[in-house]
Amino acid sequence: MNIGIVGLGLIGGSLGLDLRKLGFSVLGVSRKEETCKQAVKMGAVDEASLNLSILNQAELIFIATPIAAIAPTLHNLLPYLSPETIVTDVGSVKTEIVTTCAQLWYNFIGSHPMAGKIEQGITAAQNNLFQNTPYVITPTDSTPVDSVSKLAEIVSLLGCRVYYCSPQEHDQAVAWISHLPVMISASLIDACLQEKQPEVLNLAKQLASSGFRDTSRVGGGNVELGVMMAKYNRQQILRSLLEYQNSLTTLTQYLETENWEALTAYLENTQNSRPDFYEG
Ligand code: NAP
Repeated sequence: MNIGIVGLGLIGGSLGLDLRKLGFSVLGVSRKEETCKQAVKMGAVDEASLNLSILNQAELIFIATPIAAIAPTLHNLLPYLSPETIVTDVGSVKTEIVTTCAQLWYNFIGSHPMAGKIEQGITAAQNNLFQNTPYVITPTDSTPVDSVSKLAEIVSLLGCRVYYCSPQEHDQAVAWISHLPVMISASLIDACLQEKQPEVLNLAKQLASSGFRDTSRVGGGNVELGVMMAKYNRQQILRSLLEYQNSLTTLTQYLETENWEALTAYLENTQNSRPDFYEG
């Protein structure tokens, strides 16, 4: 089976590496010649081109470009699609993409692999990035059921756990566990930088260890991705940020009033609840 990937970066390249290992023939398209060459060299694709026409034999195409380029890419792909071609995207937001893309191509399925890392670009692509990670598929009432099954079958081969929900439910849920953490983590770094005494800030930088590394990781990541999340999932992120501000106000009050009992209960609740989100 021929699989196409447009956008040979971290996600597109990693998909290509695993799909090729599974025996699929992978055709890649990216913006830059050097990216295409690197993707071939790394074994992420069998062939790569700057031209979407290379995908005219692909049965399934993943659009793995930055979010803003997904719908324009699908539009440019249309002349090369046959009626059976399934097109999906890997964008981190779904409602706006699915609404636009399903109007362009009836056989479009929104999807989102919940895997990533701080580095970006083709050189960051790696084997087994998706192993044991959730892969969300967001069909609508008009998405062809057989195409959804086909996509689920293929991404399951990558070792993903497949989940289904509407694009809107996806955007609400990822606002909490993916987009809000980016904003909070960025604001943590920003808050530290507000330290007025240079020697204290310097010392803090030198003393920062695993706790700061964990909590600052996503705030120190891909800027373009963070801005795109905010633009395309603005309402849901705002809703989560406002709730987060309430939570911070509660914490601030506990400290101001030295209410250690309430703080203990708060931290016991978060300690007990964390495994429901993440067992790591
Ligand atoms: P990335 O590493 O920056 O890769 C995107 C690649 O797309 C770039 O390397 C670029 O390649 C190529 N590109 C950009 N515009 C293009 C266009 N118009 N046509 C063709 N190729 C184009 O970013 P990423 O992290 O893989 O993210 C890609 C998508 O995955 C985004 O939609 C994001 O929301 C989603 N996603 C990301 C993560 C994550 O944690 N990073 C997780 C899940 C989903 P050139 O070098 O050729 O310009």
